Amino acid sequence: MVDDALLAALMLPGELPSLDALLGRPPWHAQAACRGEGPDRWFPERGANTATVAEARAVCRSCAVRVDCLSYAFASPNPAGLPGVWGGLSSRERRHALRRGLAPADAIDLADRRLRLAG
Ligand code: SF4
Repeated sequence: MVDDALLAALMLPGELPSLDALLGRPPWHAQAACRGEGPDRWFPERGANTATVAEARAVCRSCAVRVDCLSYAFASPNPAGLPGVWGGLSSRERRHALRRGLAPADAIDLADRRLRLAG
């Protein structure tokens, strides 16, 4: 049987962790443009249609926390090996940016300029 005092303590709204905290999401994720989207476009299977990644990038371009997202990826234990699209950059683009020592905002600028030139 659950103790009423323990139950009351557990039910205090201010004491409960947020779902984001429980899932290990960083605070900036609350403003992510991809929030609520499925992972398919950001973490496509190897060999997936490139249009899938392009759709993810398009969402990232309008994201308010894009620099935070890429900074988070850059700060991960294996930023170059991290799969998926982060801050609108593919793993290949992140590897390239890291090799050049680019800050996240500069890496985003460079990736966007390359896309404009290619498009
Ligand atoms: S930059 Fe892209 S992947 Fe990162 S939080 Fe924003 S929408 Fe999601």
